[in-house]
Amino acid sequence: MAEIRCDQKIVSGLYVVATPIGNLADISSRARHVLSNVDMIACEDTRLTAKLLTAYLIKKPLLPYHEHNGAHQRPKLLAAIAEGKSVALVSDAGTPLISDPGFKLVAEAQDAGHFVTSIPGPCAAITALSLAGLPTDRFLFMGFPPVKSQARQTWFTGEEHTPASLVFYESAKRLPDCLKDAYASLGPRPAAVCRELTKKFEEVRRGTLEELSAHYAEAGSPKGEVVVVIGAGEKHKSSGTTEFETEKLLKVSLEHMSVKSAAAFVAELTGERKKDIYNKALELTGARDG
Ligand code: SAM
Repeated sequence: MAEIRCDQKIVSGLYVVATPIGNLADISSRARHVLSNVDMIACEDTRLTAKLLTAYLIKKPLLPYHEHNGAHQRPKLLAAIAEGKSVALVSDAGTPLISDPGFKLVAEAQDAGHFVTSIPGPCAAITALSLAGLPTDRFLFMGFPPVKSQARQTWFTGEEHTPASLVFYESAKRLPDCLKDAYASLGPRPAAVCRELTKKFEEVRRGTLEELSAHYAEAGSPKGEVVVVIGAGEKHKSSGTTEFETEKLLKVSLEHMSVKSAAAFVAELTGERKKDIYNKALELTGARDG
């Protein structure tokens, strides 16, 4: 078999380069080649990227480029490219622009007619999807959830009917509270917490949101970095209401009405059989009274 050689000629332009998310061996040959041959590297944290480059024996001028200095740095980087220089963009880890800075730089470089290319590689969201064991035919990447509980519940509820797996990043510290809100908003869907991907203590914990929420409420925040994947909700019935939604509706109605009235009301709203809803209401009130 012919040797795979990386001899891409480095011309003037912007190179969006993915770097490892934990295991340094995950850098691609092309990424190393590009980082070794560009004129300069724009990165979030120069000290962190310097460490990464040292591991690959690469020494290059580094320019800080992050959300707080982007507006100031972009014209400089674009002017350098216009003068014929080649610039690589990396983030602290993974693929730039994925919950990381860079989209304005890419847009402006494209609009200016510069050569822009991607050196693809690790991405925590995609790595998690490949391990979660949940459907991947459709997924929605949601970035990071809001920090406050109420806003987080609204954030989840907004995707209640999205027919796709949900993928998002979360800090390990907030994971227990976040799973609690996810369960409150979305019900007992299948999910996976994917932690420390590609690292020594890589772990994938699968279960329903109810189980995962109970586990982390008990165990506390785990260590390290985390991606959460949540399976899509059950397919809607002809009434357009899921079992979880019907139950929520019934619980709220039971706060204000008798069992009989609540059952009639919810059956009317959802188009479900009155008898089924009535039995469900008895179950719920029985559990509540008991
Ligand atoms: N651009 C990066 C990418 O392509 O994955 C993501 C950057 S985002 C600022 C950082 C978040 O990604 C972390 O807070 C964590 O949720 C997730 N993450 C990064 N590395 C990870 C890893 N090795 N294991 C699990 N999650 C990781």
